[in-house]
Amino acid sequence: MIAFVEQPDTRTESHLIGKFAGNFDGPTLVAVGSIHGNEPSGRLALERVSRRLESLEKKLRGRVYLLAGNVRASAREVRFLDMDLNRHWTRENVRKNTKLSADALAEDREQYELLAIFREILNSAGDEVYVLDLHSTSAGGVPFATVGDTLRNRHFAQKLPVTILLGIEEQLEGTMLEFLNNEGAVTLGFEGGQHQSAEAIDNHEALVMHSLVSAGILAAEDVPGLFASRQRLVSATGKAHIFEVRHREPVSPEDEFQMDPGYRNFDPVERGQRLASTKNGTISAPESGSMLMPLYQKQGEDGFFIVRMVSIFWLRLSEVIRRLRLADYTHWLPGVRRHPKHSEVLQIDTRIARFFPLQIFHLFGFRRLRWEQNFLVVSRRRFDTISPFASRRNRKYG
Ligand SMILES: [Zn+2]
Repeated sequence: MIAFVEQPDTRTESHLIGKFAGNFDGPTLVAVGSIHGNEPSGRLALERVSRRLESLEKKLRGRVYLLAGNVRASAREVRFLDMDLNRHWTRENVRKNTKLSADALAEDREQYELLAIFREILNSAGDEVYVLDLHSTSAGGVPFATVGDTLRNRHFAQKLPVTILLGIEEQLEGTMLEFLNNEGAVTLGFEGGQHQSAEAIDNHEALVMHSLVSAGILAAEDVPGLFASRQRLVSATGKAHIFEVRHREPVSPEDEFQMDPGYRNFDPVERGQRLASTKNGTISAPESGSMLMPLYQKQGEDGFFIVRMVSIFWLRLSEVIRRLRLADYTHWLPGVRRHPKHSEVLQIDTRIARFFPLQIFHLFGFRRLRWEQNFLVVSRRRFDTISPFASRRNRKYG
């Protein structure tokens, strides 16, 4: 465990919107709002949740922490000051920001403060830990949950009446939830709606209240208005489906990326359809599917995503494969070898193993790390089926 060195000029307290404990040994739910400073709805929803929990604290069967993400960027109403805080949780940064150097960036300070809070929560947890990260999008459309594809994450998400997107964390480097997932928490991101919309605040509030029930921290009958908030999510979502990410369009500022107008989340797109332009020409859809998170703001590194619905058959099959721990044998496949230093990492020679696309490794519970020349490098997701926190409870109570 990393020891923290106390630093002057930090704002750790300002991240804390609310903190409640009914039973200190029960499950923990952490909700983070506005890790992107231009997305006020998450923070505003958590302020509402905090007021609701004041009268419910005695009924809580666990702990609840409601946190503001990037407080410095939020004060200026921009996505970030020096760099995107939700791309900042790489192993090196997390190690570096256990203490602050004189040249620390604004987001280094934010990370230092949040890390201090997370460490305290995780170290003292006596049962399962759930983390929600509340976002909003520049385009409108159906709200949805983003879920790193572990079975524990999936099972938690499937109890909520929302559309689920699997695998976006593979496309993004250094998200906060990926870090917390690797620490053993069950994690769920939620895109509540358009940045400035009133609905986004309502959707976030409804999602958090529902998550408290799904996590077993509140009983459904103890939450006034729970049925209304379920109806809110159901009517905003429509039929809840599960999607996976098929394509990410990366963007850098010098590209002068311009999304074509009028796209909303989950609009259907056809292969070859024109979607956007840059200074180098037009961008068309590399495959058919549904549009997600088209970029209609200046700051951001993702132009859009193309997603596709996942079949129930695939979900069931991957559950069976993972429960049987068949991933232990994947390095016997031709062209597949274990990383010499990290047993959880596979190197796949795609010239030999060209019949095993990334989707096959998803079935077994691996995530894409990177390409190294002809090698696709994937790593096994940690804590796919077993919680490191729930086992503390078992130790305690025998
Ligand atoms: Zn965001």
